[in-house]
Amino acid sequence: MSRTVDLVVPCYNEQDVIASFYKETNAVVKDIPGFDFRYIFIDDGSRDNTLPQLKALAALHPEVGYISFSRNFGKEAGIYAGLKASTADLVVVMDADLQHPPSMLPDMIAGIDEGHDCVAARRITRKGEGRVKSWLSSLFYKFSNAVSDVKMEEGAVDYRMMTRQMINAVLSLCERQRFSKGIFMWVGFDTKWIPYENVERTVGTSKWSIRSLFKYAMDGIMCFSTAPLKMVSWFGGIVCLLSFVYIIATLIQTSIFGIDVPGYVTTLCAVLFLGGAIEFSIGILGEYISRIYLEVKNRPIYITKETNIHNGNDEEAVE
Ligand code: UDP
Ligand code: MG
Repeated sequence: MSRTVDLVVPCYNEQDVIASFYKETNAVVKDIPGFDFRYIFIDDGSRDNTLPQLKALAALHPEVGYISFSRNFGKEAGIYAGLKASTADLVVVMDADLQHPPSMLPDMIAGIDEGHDCVAARRITRKGEGRVKSWLSSLFYKFSNAVSDVKMEEGAVDYRMMTRQMINAVLSLCERQRFSKGIFMWVGFDTKWIPYENVERTVGTSKWSIRSLFKYAMDGIMCFSTAPLKMVSWFGGIVCLLSFVYIIATLIQTSIFGIDVPGYVTTLCAVLFLGGAIEFSIGILGEYISRIYLEVKNRPIYITKETNIHNGNDEEAVE
């Protein structure tokens, strides 16, 4: 009996690539014997013709499924919706823009057959990407790996094949603010990394701005580490200790030499510095509290407007 593979593809304003994505991917998967491939496209509230294109594709090909969100919920929500709707033995997460080469799928299957739980792609070059973006990204990996228990592989992209067991583990993490790169590492299991050269986007544009990347990086750090909180308390402790030493020294100095009036600059510096440090610490606390607030509200991760997949797995759907 052949095994099944679900390809989970989040799409946001990807009208120009859907047809070529299907064509190129299908050309690869039809030659892989012993596997039935299905597609789960997620239309993440696109404002172009992505949904009509997906519907047209689904009308022509029975293996094409789609879930359309009521608005743009973000790629993470798209990935989650796809994983939740999947029922296959193996699931692949990949981008619609062909930056994740379908030609790697046979190698991924080979990796799974070697006994790995997950086979993931890792970019070894960042050709075609802005210098600032590359530098910021590498800074993020360095900082995040230094402060977090979950080690993230530099260059890892959201292109990976996973076994049903691993998918179930990923889905068992029901947090609202999802940072898949961290979640995939957190659940453990044995991952084989396949290196590949960065592929430039030929059609459409990247949906990431520096601002959204910064938010993404903050999520990555805050969702998987409490180190910033610890740093703040360490900092507070060190400042307390230094102040204590300073108080003792001042007391001794005053009792020996009497009261020394000048000290305006020192006082101002101390007040400004401590004021800034307190604001900064409150800011870090605020980041965590806002995340707790969002989690506690327990809102659905996404809302489905329409879909052609009805397998009872899509619990989040509010139709
Ligand atoms: N995407 C999405 N929702 C969003 C932003 C992006 O589903 O809000 C999808 C997008 O359609 C693509 C994938 O996520 O299939 C990766 O996006 P993009 O190519 O813009 O990111 P990059 O390759 O530049 O990191
Ligand atoms: Mg892309």
